[in-house]
Amino acid sequence: MNLPFAESYKIKMVETIKRSTREERERWIKEAKYNLFGLRSEQVYIDLLTDSGTGAMSDKQWSELMLGDESYAGASSYYKMKEAIQKILGYDYFLPTHQGRAAENVLFSVLIKEGNVVPGNSHFDTTKGHIEYRKAKAVDCTIDEAFHTEILHPFKGNIDVEKLESVLKSTPSEKIPFIIVTVTCNSSGGQPVSIENLKAIRKLADKYGKKIVFDAARFAENAYFIKLREKGYENKTIKEIVKEMFSYADIMTMSSKKDAIVNMGGFIAMRDIELHRQASVFNIMFEGYITYGGMSGRDMNALAQGLDEATEFDYLETRIKQIEYLGARLEEFGIPFQKPVGGHAIFVDAKKILPNLPEEQYVAQTLGVELYLEAGIRGVEIGTLLADRDPVTRENRYPALEFLRLAIPRRVYTNNHMDVIAVALKNVFDRRNEITKGFEIIYEAPIMRHFTVELKKL
Ligand SMILES: *Cc1c(COP(=O)(O)O)cnc(C)c1O
Repeated sequence: MNLPFAESYKIKMVETIKRSTREERERWIKEAKYNLFGLRSEQVYIDLLTDSGTGAMSDKQWSELMLGDESYAGASSYYKMKEAIQKILGYDYFLPTHQGRAAENVLFSVLIKEGNVVPGNSHFDTTKGHIEYRKAKAVDCTIDEAFHTEILHPFKGNIDVEKLESVLKSTPSEKIPFIIVTVTCNSSGGQPVSIENLKAIRKLADKYGKKIVFDAARFAENAYFIKLREKGYENKTIKEIVKEMFSYADIMTMSSKKDAIVNMGGFIAMRDIELHRQASVFNIMFEGYITYGGMSGRDMNALAQGLDEATEFDYLETRIKQIEYLGARLEEFGIPFQKPVGGHAIFVDAKKILPNLPEEQYVAQTLGVELYLEAGIRGVEIGTLLADRDPVTRENRYPALEFLRLAIPRRVYTNNHMDVIAVALKNVFDRRNEITKGFEIIYEAPIMRHFTVELKKL
């Protein structure tokens, strides 16, 4: 008999979580104005709001905290991080930042001007926010398959090279500062980009003289999918694949709260020393001196260790098999979600579950609130609230898909928790016909409204 699969780690420390009653949850979510971000963490039983900064660090990472060097300039922790980035990602220059959006802020301050156009694959919300804040435009060139949850495609994060070329052709060259490639592509379901696609994008970029920026938050999960799904890569190590992936980009921004498995941190890395000089000016203004950029020395140490652990096959296999396990349970119950499952989350297809709810009533948000009421499980809306209003017309933007994202924190929950999530969602699914009313907005911020939006039940 073949041995079953089990996690590639054992548990050294635990944190208590508590269940609650439906009456309590009804009160709490009302007080939170039906915004899941507004809940206190102790009002949540299983927290799938995000996989960002919510992972469990390893014993080795915790040991690294003790070795942190808190010198203002030239700390050994900075050099430890520099060495890890050179060795694992292959970039000579980098700037630490306090998280991913800070990396975007610093880099885009150098590269993006008003009226610019930035093509890419389903830009992440903060990325799009930082582009639009500069009165520039993000153009989504993701392949069409990504917008059909039932179509099986191994690399739904891929860029459609024809769409990309038509943007490059039809836009004056000086208006396109770079092409951005998100690996894996969060907004379309944690979907990977293939090496073949990266090569094709590189070819186009060279033809039109453009730089490529990787939004690299989940680069290691991307490499895992390449190893499993792309011909010719099955015998390569994750570290070899990662090196090749990054060889096709000029610059990268990183939210280390994802695939570097730290609670806080980020960075920009590049090959060009002149860009490093220009970005340093903004880093010093917004983040901190160039050898710490908003991070503590101990956090830079843990980050360097985390990069090494996240690019090991056994870790990635454990992580992604857990997401596949949850996906299989949902499949068993007939619940529709983005397939195949992504690297960090399940994206539940809310429109398919609540087809009669008008899109002006925030379909995925309604499903998210119902799941919270059912079992104290907190997911997040990836739909109309997140899509914000059009910066010019101020009209609501209705995305093709309304997702309820269930993001799985790294090394935190067990498959028993996955079972609870699956059954809770099944219970909501079973009473979907009784869910006939959604929400209306009573307060929203002018940009990135989903974090602080306040809602009223209709
Ligand atoms: C999380 C994330 C960001 C932003 O990073 P923060 O650390 O949350 O600021 C940018 N891009 C992608 C793809 C992400 O997943």
